[in-house]
Amino acid sequence: MPQSKTIHDKLSELANNLWWSWQPEVTMIYREIDPTRWSELSHNPVLLLREYGPEKLEARARELVLHSRINGAYRRWQEYMQSTDTWGDVHAAVLGYRPAAYFSAEFGLHESLRIYSGGLGILAGDHLKSASDLGIPLVGVGLFYHEGYFSQYIDQDGWQKEDYTFAEPSHLPLREAVGADGTPVVITVDTRRGRIHARVWRIDVGRVPLYLLDTNIAANSEEDRKLTARLYGGDQRTRIRQELILGVGGVRALAALGINPRLIHMNEGHSAFAPLEIIRQRMKHDGMSFDDSLRETSAAGVFTTHTPVPAGHDRFDGGLIEEHLGPQADDLGLSLDTFMGLGRVDPHNPSEPFCMTVLAFKTSRRANAVSNLHGVVSRRMWHSLWPYRSEEEIPIGHITNGVHVPTWLAPQIRQLYDRVLPNNWFLRTGEPDVWSGFEHVTAGELWETHQSLKSRLIVYSRNRLVKAAQKRGSTDEELQQLQNVLDPRVLLIGFARRFAPYKRADLVLRDLERFRQIIESSEHPVHFVFAGKAHPADDHGKAIMQRIIRLTSEPPFRGRMVFLDDYDINLARHLVQGVDVWLNNPRRPLEASGTSGQKVVLNGGLNLSILDGWWAEAFDGHNGFGIGTGLIHSNQDIQDNRDAEALMQVLNNEVIPLYYERDKDDVPQGWIRRMKRAVRTLGWRFNADRMVMDYVRECYIPAAGSLSCDMTIMP
Ligand SMILES: *Cc1c(COP(=O)(O)O)cnc(C)c1O
Repeated sequence: MPQSKTIHDKLSELANNLWWSWQPEVTMIYREIDPTRWSELSHNPVLLLREYGPEKLEARARELVLHSRINGAYRRWQEYMQSTDTWGDVHAAVLGYRPAAYFSAEFGLHESLRIYSGGLGILAGDHLKSASDLGIPLVGVGLFYHEGYFSQYIDQDGWQKEDYTFAEPSHLPLREAVGADGTPVVITVDTRRGRIHARVWRIDVGRVPLYLLDTNIAANSEEDRKLTARLYGGDQRTRIRQELILGVGGVRALAALGINPRLIHMNEGHSAFAPLEIIRQRMKHDGMSFDDSLRETSAAGVFTTHTPVPAGHDRFDGGLIEEHLGPQADDLGLSLDTFMGLGRVDPHNPSEPFCMTVLAFKTSRRANAVSNLHGVVSRRMWHSLWPYRSEEEIPIGHITNGVHVPTWLAPQIRQLYDRVLPNNWFLRTGEPDVWSGFEHVTAGELWETHQSLKSRLIVYSRNRLVKAAQKRGSTDEELQQLQNVLDPRVLLIGFARRFAPYKRADLVLRDLERFRQIIESSEHPVHFVFAGKAHPADDHGKAIMQRIIRLTSEPPFRGRMVFLDDYDINLARHLVQGVDVWLNNPRRPLEASGTSGQKVVLNGGLNLSILDGWWAEAFDGHNGFGIGTGLIHSNQDIQDNRDAEALMQVLNNEVIPLYYERDKDDVPQGWIRRMKRAVRTLGWRFNADRMVMDYVRECYIPAAGSLSCDMTIMP
């Protein structure tokens, strides 16, 4: 008989697969072992278990009577890993043992793994988690950034400052990926000026492995060791070198690992060099011509575009391309000029730079935008790539983004779901019928649950504010005041996202006097919580942030609006689970989808949003609140004024009155009807299981089966 596993063994195994992070029961176990350290260690169980050796853990578990819970969680994990009757087993068997390879520059999986900056990364993380839950054969490919994206703190002037800390791989659930011969994989990519080496880490996301390339190894020059240090750091040269490692290096890493993907899915254009490497390998191994290989490779290519503005796409000049892709072009038998043509709308226009999005379109037969409206915008934007087609015939479809339900759902709300939805609801979240049972939750019960989550958010916010203020050296009196900010009885509106100017974090303050009136109203007041990071180089975004932060310390705003620093997955979780209303007011149509509002829906919060991105196809007049009519003015200033006015109107005429309309038990019945309607009408659609199922049906299965059919859509 093998020695049975200790609970330290079991908790370590669980810690080394991110599956634990979407199991509230497991998270609870880690927290209970040592609540203080758990929060200090940024919810990282690998580090916690380093501090709790087997004996100390055993004693602690006995004290807390944790054994049966740990054993239960471990057993559930094993069942999960071994199950053979998943949705994928039934519907995606054709993908077989050759997985889809999902490429992304960022992955937002958990707060302890800082290799994401915002929505694009969270989407990629949620995609992997749902692919795992559904049993889709898929592997992720990305980069390991030691310093990740920055952590944010705010100086005395309300100006954003950035901090980078080095993440030690051994402190994370990473292990070296090994090849068939059992040795760690190291890949190389040649440029005109030298060779770059990268090692490969593996991280398990349930059943899905994620491979992360990392240039921080001794074989590289000092400069190249830092190449993958930071997400979206450095200049254009850093950018193209990172994308070279991600795309070309990523495909080489898969080959070295013995993984021969059935298809590749590019999440945004950053990884568009990947198909070029597949083409190169096929030319070399199968003796194909470039044209044949391009056709076959693009038949197995899926590309998701995310950026609705032309300026937002990566573009490189001929010099950078020659230096970095020159060797690749040689192997493909292409002159630099022909190679440049792959990244140009007009291949023969020498003044056009090389655009990664164009390359991605030209190397994938299936392309999609991330919401219905974004599909319209993208077809218009890329019309020139298919000049002989009408706009409706442009082959860019859409699959609207969704969020991974177990990751974003508060355990308390989950208990309500467990009671009123069908038994196996969490295996069937993509089905509308499953959610209709939510109507049966009683109003009082839903309201109580929501209120307790809101109180939790407020306490959490106060603690966070105090900690940040202590770091800035605030006085005792100031700290005292922070202990009392935000009132749980007052309508609480949340706004948290990247401070990209188009998101207009300050739209609600455009008419400061009216903003003051709603905040200060003695009868029907409103409180606000803001959070978000600006890109380090974005001074405009930082100035918008500074204006908001300065107001938070001035009467009458002080105590009624707060700014929480260092927006990350953990803060996002608290916010989306605790606010009454989630405000979203981007300049239409620049929000390709947006996903944070979908997280709010699951937890019973209401969206108050411009009719842009996912909300343009989600709002039905009664499942939240819409701002404006969806019209777009060509003058930005007029548009902003109009939207600010519309926002104030909805707040004053709909949101605030409905919230404060109470029955004799002080329960807002009308408001609760809207909460229920939001969950019922939106939950089934805007979740990542539905999204991944759409990708499988509309992209993966056709891509896997289309290799033999001969149709060309590219000019
Ligand atoms: C969900 C999420 C986002 C994306 O939000 P948007 O609605 O797309 O702005 C960004 N950052 C974090 C931390 C998130 O959790």
